[in-house]
Amino acid sequence: MSAKAKAKGPIEGSAEVVVDHILLKSAHFERKNTRLIHELSNAQHPRYIAVGCSDSRVPIEDIFGAKLGESFTIRVAGTVLDIPEIGSIEYGVEHLGVGLILFIAHTNCGAVSAAQEVLKKESKDRRAKVPIKTPLDKTIKDIYENIKANPRNAHDLHSAIMDNANAEIRKLLSRSKVVRDAVKNGVLVVRLGVYETSTGALRFVK
Ligand SMILES: [Zn+2]
Repeated sequence: MSAKAKAKGPIEGSAEVVVDHILLKSAHFERKNTRLIHELSNAQHPRYIAVGCSDSRVPIEDIFGAKLGESFTIRVAGTVLDIPEIGSIEYGVEHLGVGLILFIAHTNCGAVSAAQEVLKKESKDRRAKVPIKTPLDKTIKDIYENIKANPRNAHDLHSAIMDNANAEIRKLLSRSKVVRDAVKNGVLVVRLGVYETSTGALRFVK
């Protein structure tokens, strides 16, 4: 074991503390929801599909006050949708018959902010390119593609966040025939909400 790996010891110790805490909390959850867990044990009928960011300040079920079985939730940094996320949404629409997608953008999004930095750099130097070496680079690049057409997005984070969210909704509709047809047939509605991380307020913009 290298010296660097050894130095991870204290982190492992704190992982134990976190896991113990989670087990205590989950035992409480189990006791509190016994009846509902039993009722839902054979099937789920979620009321909506929630799509949001992985940001720890945006826990969708908590914000919505959702009960067990209510939210079919997909959370991913910057709400960037790729095949697995779109596949999950299709599962919710096609197999679970969910008729409502709640797409939740949030203020102060770090992923959009990272893409905005690239946009700023590029506006100073046209030859600057987004390097794609890691999966995270790909996420940032996708957001960058969503926001680059609007020059305002280089300095206005809220505008970049809304352009990103709207572009991801358009992407979902263009890439998923299941979602597109359901919307066309009037059995699925897509709404967009914005959650304010500094105040805790949620509002729907469409
Ligand atoms: Zn975010």
